[in-house]
Amino acid sequence: MDHATLRTTPLENFPPPAQWDHWEELDPKAWPRRVQKQYSLVPTICFNCEAACGLVAYVDKQDGSIRKVEGNPFHPGSRGRNCAKGPATINQVNDPERILYPMKRVGPRGSTRFERVSWDEVLQTLGARIRKAIIEGRKTEVMYHVGRPGHDGYVERVLQAWGVDGHNSHTNVCSAAARLGYTLWSGYDRPSPDYENAKFTLLISSHLETGHYFNPHAQRIIDAKMKGGKLAVCDIRLSNTASMSDYWLAPRPGTEPLMLLGFAHVILRENLVAWDFVREWVDWRPYQQAKGRPEDFASFQQGLAADYAFATPAHVAEVCGLDAAMVERIGREIGEAGSAFASHVWRNTAAGNEGGWSTARNLQFVSVLVGAVGTIGGTAGSGTNKFVPAPFSKPRPQDVWSELLYPKEWPLAHHELSYLLPHLVKTGRGRIDTYFTRVYNPVWTNPDGAMWIEMLADENAVGCHAVLSPTWNETARWADFVLPMGHATERHDLMSQETHAATWIGFRQPVHRVLAERQGRQVTWTYEVNPGQVWEEDEFWIALSWHVDPDGALGIRKHFESPYRPGERVTISEYYRWIFENSVPGLPAAAAKEGLSPLEYMQRHGCFLVQDQVYKTHESELKGDFEIDRERGVVRKDGKLAGVFAGGKACVGFPTPSKKLEIFASTMVDWGWGEYATPAYVKSHVDEAKLDRSKGEMVLVGTFRLPTLIHTRSANSKWLTELSNTNPVWIHPTDAQRLGIAMGDLLRVSTRIGYYVNAAWVTEGVRPGLIACSHHLGRWAVSGDQVSGNHWQLHDVDLRKVTDTAYLMRRTKPTGKFASKDKDSEKVWWSSGGVHQNMTFPVQPDPISGMHCWHQKVVVEKAHAGDRYGDVYCDTAKSMQVFEEWLAKAKPAGKFGTNGLRRPLHLKRVCRPTDASFKLP
Ligand code: SF4
Repeated sequence: MDHATLRTTPLENFPPPAQWDHWEELDPKAWPRRVQKQYSLVPTICFNCEAACGLVAYVDKQDGSIRKVEGNPFHPGSRGRNCAKGPATINQVNDPERILYPMKRVGPRGSTRFERVSWDEVLQTLGARIRKAIIEGRKTEVMYHVGRPGHDGYVERVLQAWGVDGHNSHTNVCSAAARLGYTLWSGYDRPSPDYENAKFTLLISSHLETGHYFNPHAQRIIDAKMKGGKLAVCDIRLSNTASMSDYWLAPRPGTEPLMLLGFAHVILRENLVAWDFVREWVDWRPYQQAKGRPEDFASFQQGLAADYAFATPAHVAEVCGLDAAMVERIGREIGEAGSAFASHVWRNTAAGNEGGWSTARNLQFVSVLVGAVGTIGGTAGSGTNKFVPAPFSKPRPQDVWSELLYPKEWPLAHHELSYLLPHLVKTGRGRIDTYFTRVYNPVWTNPDGAMWIEMLADENAVGCHAVLSPTWNETARWADFVLPMGHATERHDLMSQETHAATWIGFRQPVHRVLAERQGRQVTWTYEVNPGQVWEEDEFWIALSWHVDPDGALGIRKHFESPYRPGERVTISEYYRWIFENSVPGLPAAAAKEGLSPLEYMQRHGCFLVQDQVYKTHESELKGDFEIDRERGVVRKDGKLAGVFAGGKACVGFPTPSKKLEIFASTMVDWGWGEYATPAYVKSHVDEAKLDRSKGEMVLVGTFRLPTLIHTRSANSKWLTELSNTNPVWIHPTDAQRLGIAMGDLLRVSTRIGYYVNAAWVTEGVRPGLIACSHHLGRWAVSGDQVSGNHWQLHDVDLRKVTDTAYLMRRTKPTGKFASKDKDSEKVWWSSGGVHQNMTFPVQPDPISGMHCWHQKVVVEKAHAGDRYGDVYCDTAKSMQVFEEWLAKAKPAGKFGTNGLRRPLHLKRVCRPTDASFKLP
């Protein structure tokens, strides 16, 4: 059923929205007695990954508790479906160990001695620090570092209102490489496949089970399969996704870009190319110029085929370790699917390898060749299927540039070099006065966690550290303030994601507050009705900004004053009311039809479909007078390139310098990477030729996700932890035999900076010659810590320095049952809890994208005498050595690049400063 049909079909098993204020049903827990319960149903948005699926909370009208959380069938992206993590929100809400009140450190940093404080004290302390830093011109010393954003642009506006260059994200341990590869083609940094209409889908990741926009994408991939579409999955591991595919490709790690050139070769050789599309929409002339060839299209066609003649299926098969016939067959099937070829890469190989960005570049090359760009069943640019409405005020860009965020060595980095922060601080590039980690756990999530511990423990490096989190985490150990923030049912946010060929917005709401307001109660701050004094970031930033600029003299406060009540503080309802009334096309009219205001409409439904069936936006007609250059297929306005002349009209084209799809990226030439200006095979740092097999070297793929866990926020869920509670090392039987290892034996996995000890999972579901280990597990607390939490999953450890620079972590108590107000905590039957592997990974910044290259060259052995399950050892002296080696690969701005810039002006940058700030000093 397509989603338009779904929206108009009676949903027999779900209460109609008109009855959401009051809904009655039998209490299943009272069975066999028939006990009628009264609920208020409040829609919200899941916060457990970035897919932003719709949820509906059943709030008990009698006691105000949330009884269950289900999918919202009216949500355009998720259509009522959720993964296990959506309904598990209720575990997080009822987590018996959650932090319910703001806390301030009272012992030395890292002592975990905290005391409860008021929100007012928190705001006064942090507000005064930030104000002082701004007044003293230390505008790079205030930093906000986000793990899971869960909103579109809210905090970016706050930071720009403060005038600081302080936005840091997790993107460079996640998706920055893929984003660069896509951006070089189209200016859009993510793909938006129209899976449900695809005839052939190629996934370079495990999207059906865990990929980005997991549930909304997975259901559409299955829809396409049920209509006869084919699915190919490239993953070195037989993931659940690969098990559902028609073709499973498990190439040698890092060779995926060549595999894709193999598909391109077949498409070119068999003349399955959509040449009309390429002629109009690809900027092929610079490609010809760079090759010294005539600027005519026939010559380009011949030249392109010749350039990729080397990537024969036989060659690809040999290098990648694949079957040549399969490469040939998939290439042909992609060509035959033509414009109905959908594809996606996000983390996986793009996040694993040096040059991982070229996977996205080459994947998009295949899509471009078959004309599957923005088409029905094809792949659009992310920006075309995402809608971010503007708020009531937009601060001017900041006029400073932080070298801790965008160091000059990585001028083409797609996002901040976030995971290098301790290394950059240690090498004297700056310090941080006030540091917010927000739903982010870098000590545990990032590579080289011991470097994070050292930075956070040093009060000269980080003056004040505030953790904003819905749950306890390892990083909070080194906090000065731990500030409890809400789960999906305890906060406001506005989100939109490119889940399919449409645009929509989803409204996250604090359901207790909605219930209180439905019952006529006045609420000023959301923490008044949330559990304990759990707050939400949206209101926290408004309140904090008033403390930073209490009299408005700094020009900050005006951005946090009500658009309806001049001079008074904006309420969170007013903030969203303005957006819904002014920035979302069609919403006021849809609301009026139901006799509601736009805000009431969003509070009632929790989502709004802005536009359905969004295709080929690059063909949208430009209005106005233009100079048309038919020969080059472009249009100009006042001498400046403005769009593309295609199909007999002036079109908007793509957000690239040429307005076309760029097969030749002059940006790469300008910044010293001319050899990669066209789609190319970049050899990975774990390329077979770089491994010394005689020394037992193997590749560790340490990035795979489990469908039931969240990176660092599911240890507070008893249901999710019962489903997944260990992360053994996957190893092929041939490798296990060579090493004399049987199922469950202990392995020592050694990286450049340390090792960990984990159990073996011997399986044919992984390619020989490599090992794989999920990054989700291995959560820990130090024995004797006075504050911690998450004991559904955490184990206790002894964490000690064994030399001046080396740490050994050894578990002292396994995961197991514990006392709490939830009687299920006495029934915990699992004991492993998994092993924390990321702490043993050195940082490996890709010299172009800046992405951390997660794949590790490792030596795998039987555990040594004295090794124990869960041991983690790492040496920060070696960390710095590896950091320096990778730093030397980079090509710094100044030595490379144009016009004395730190970074090309046309490349996106989060919280983009003024153009003047792009200039090197
Ligand atoms: S895919 Fe799962 S975790 Fe992600 S938003 Fe949807 S329900 Fe939540």
